[in-house]
Amino acid sequence: MAVSYGGGVQSTALLVLAARREIPYRTFLFANTGDDSEDPRTLNYVRHIAARYAAKHGIDLHILDRRTRIGELETLWGRMMRRDSRSMPIPIRMSNGKPGMRSCTTDFKVKVIGKWLRFHGASVDNPATVGIGISLDEISRATNRRTEPYERIRYPLLDLGLRRTDCIEIIRDAGLLVPNKSACFFCPLKSRESWAKMHRDRPQLFGKACHLEEMLNIRRRMQHKDPVFLTGAGRPLREAITRAQDELPIDVGCDSGWCMT
Ligand code: SF4
Repeated sequence: MAVSYGGGVQSTALLVLAARREIPYRTFLFANTGDDSEDPRTLNYVRHIAARYAAKHGIDLHILDRRTRIGELETLWGRMMRRDSRSMPIPIRMSNGKPGMRSCTTDFKVKVIGKWLRFHGASVDNPATVGIGISLDEISRATNRRTEPYERIRYPLLDLGLRRTDCIEIIRDAGLLVPNKSACFFCPLKSRESWAKMHRDRPQLFGKACHLEEMLNIRRRMQHKDPVFLTGAGRPLREAITRAQDELPIDVGCDSGWCMT
């Protein structure tokens, strides 16, 4: 029995509920897409706030990396940056703004957690119960999630009838900082406002995302393929988001559609 911990608001609320013994989970699993891929704020939160809180309350919080067949660490950024890579694992956007197919969630989240569960005894005959942090206001995500044969998915926040605002209150009541939205810093499913906020507040990280987009397009050009983008604007990130600066609201709500296992 484990919670798939995403490091965001909903799954951190589950951590607090587990610490208060209001839900029966004692194991939390965070699949790290890579120290060079996850949003640094998420990694910082998981390692320095959530992990300490979990330890204090007797909960095992494991940070899991993806390993290749020969045991080497593989990160999502590393996979895309490999010189010989033809892989486009992230939901990159085409000129029409629509995101393409992705394999990143499956490879770097679902499979990593699945491997841990199976190593610890989960099987088709003995499926693990996996708690997912989805709140009432994003209930459609619960019906969209594929279930693997070695797991039985549960949604404790839905069972308790909790919304995102309730989760924030639960986290604050525990004396914890409310985490930022968790995702890879270059995730193309991020809203335009979130990109603009990154451009304003974390220009270095924004520059790194621009570099990724440029590098992917150099490779696409060599393959005689159309350009791709990290936003739905149909033009390069640097250009699309500079133009959005004036429209930037004071604060940004959460995006829907980011992957959290
Ligand atoms: S956050 Fe985005 S880029 Fe990262 S694994 Fe999920 S869908 Fe892929």
